[in-house]
Amino acid sequence: MDKNSKIYKIRHSFSHLLAIAILEKFPDAKIVSGPPTETGFFYGVDFGKEKVEEKDLKDFQKKIKKLISQNLAFIKEEKTKEELLEFYKNNEYKKEITEDKAKDGKPLTIYKTGENFFDLCSGPHVEHSADLPIDSFRIDKISGAYFKADEKRPMLTRIYGTAFETKEGLENHDKMLKEAEKRDHRKIGKKLDLFTFSDLVGSGLPLFTPKGTLMRNLITEEIEKIQKNFGWQKVTIPHITKKDLYEKSGHWEKFGDELFKVSGKTDQEFVMKPMNCPHHTQIYSANPRSYKDLPLRFSENGVVYRDEQQGELLGISRVRAITQDDGHSFCTPEQVEEEISNIILIIKKFYTKFEMFDEKNLSVSLSISDPKKPEKYMLEDGLFKKAEEILEKIAIKENLPYKKIEGEAAFYGPKLDFHFKDALGRSWQLATAQLDFSMPKRFDLLYTDSDGQKKNPVMIHRAIAGSLERFMSVMIEHFAGEFPFWLCPVQVSVIPIAENLNQKAKEITKFLEENNFRVESDYSKESFGKKVRSAKEQKIPYFIIVGERDPEGKFTLESRDSEEKLVLTPEEILEKFEKEN
Ligand SMILES: [Zn+2]
Ligand SMILES: [Zn+2]
Repeated sequence: MDKNSKIYKIRHSFSHLLAIAILEKFPDAKIVSGPPTETGFFYGVDFGKEKVEEKDLKDFQKKIKKLISQNLAFIKEEKTKEELLEFYKNNEYKKEITEDKAKDGKPLTIYKTGENFFDLCSGPHVEHSADLPIDSFRIDKISGAYFKADEKRPMLTRIYGTAFETKEGLENHDKMLKEAEKRDHRKIGKKLDLFTFSDLVGSGLPLFTPKGTLMRNLITEEIEKIQKNFGWQKVTIPHITKKDLYEKSGHWEKFGDELFKVSGKTDQEFVMKPMNCPHHTQIYSANPRSYKDLPLRFSENGVVYRDEQQGELLGISRVRAITQDDGHSFCTPEQVEEEISNIILIIKKFYTKFEMFDEKNLSVSLSISDPKKPEKYMLEDGLFKKAEEILEKIAIKENLPYKKIEGEAAFYGPKLDFHFKDALGRSWQLATAQLDFSMPKRFDLLYTDSDGQKKNPVMIHRAIAGSLERFMSVMIEHFAGEFPFWLCPVQVSVIPIAENLNQKAKEITKFLEENNFRVESDYSKESFGKKVRSAKEQKIPYFIIVGERDPEGKFTLESRDSEEKLVLTPEEILEKFEKEN
């Protein structure tokens, strides 16, 4: 959200009024911080021994309405560090935030609202509380979060609010929430029998059923089919490694307590891999490489393991065992441009299959370094800046709807992140292409250039679907389970209306299966109506009804998406399916 946008100021100002309301009812509460969010705002608070409950939310809401009608001004003032530390002497959180800001050299400003309240804050805010839309906000949720997202720090209570510029905006948001609930991938995944969880296995560790596995394979096969033409080769690596690999790559430091550790018979320490890149570098370095061998492109559907916090886990959207359709291209600096263009082409082909690679749905962020914090990046030899220019040049050439985002680059290089909007207008970052100058150096990866010199290749990290689990959760919700024909685990259900027609049903089933379509036939003793209902609940795109009155050699084909009934020969059905596949 743009800091200078009206909605940012509105949401941020609401969070200050929420703090006032909280402190009125709980004078001993320690307020910590209150940023705007994508749909509203929250304030994080340490309530000490007091307990805040659902019913308090109504009181906060009432109080905020009163504050709005009092038309209080938001006034910016500067304070010294000493003044703030004195004021916050009983609030260790604000004291720490004051120290942090002072250390970063940020100006210490406050916003005053009314007689008795101010908040350490760099703004911006609305000018007066009456500028806030009194009828398009609500205080609606309590949850917990660690101070500075650090498990070792105290757990704070967050009071959440929702706010939009207009009443209509809030109503549309509520409609969207209702629709999102209907499309919840956890519900649909269960109904369509795609995946399950087991207490014995553990949370965040999804188990994919035959149907779910089929879908996963259809997605990855699609990517493989496309990328094969661009010279990508598949590799396979183990799921664990000696800790040494990550010490060398720098991930040991970066991932820290997110790593799952494994112990074996030896006293060597092993870990589950949190990413595939370091392993892939070792395949590169196994042989001497010449510029003639490059680009070398390794890909695999690699499962990585990250010890995400319990509270962060969500269905298959946030899991601890993540399958990445991961790829690494090792190339010369001169090859970067063409290499990235080809990756974009793969992304384009893949998402076109989901009708998502268009003006309506696609946005791209070009994540570059923060000029104010050069120490965060490997900028020394000028390659980083050059890489940023290359990525931008490609973004322009490929006509990508991109936005430059300062400070979002990885420490090793800039990247292009691809965001796609789902049917509810929610944007998901799925595909990515990242330039990396750091890892080849860390691992002493070399190639002999045409001038006989040994040089470090550039490493390009890329994922097309991203995390397969998350990609599936997005697609389940995007299609509300009504997948396109080619992606359906079951494409057609054959339903004989009476037992004496089972033989005829078996014949058409066999015919379609032999032609590689996924067919399920229902020979149960259930009533015909029930069989049709069950197929519809499974969101199967076609059913073939085998009835008494069908003309000789013909079948009735019905569709999930239309009322149309067609009476066709097996060959005609096949022709129709082949067109849609
Ligand atoms: Zn503020
Ligand atoms: Zn990588």
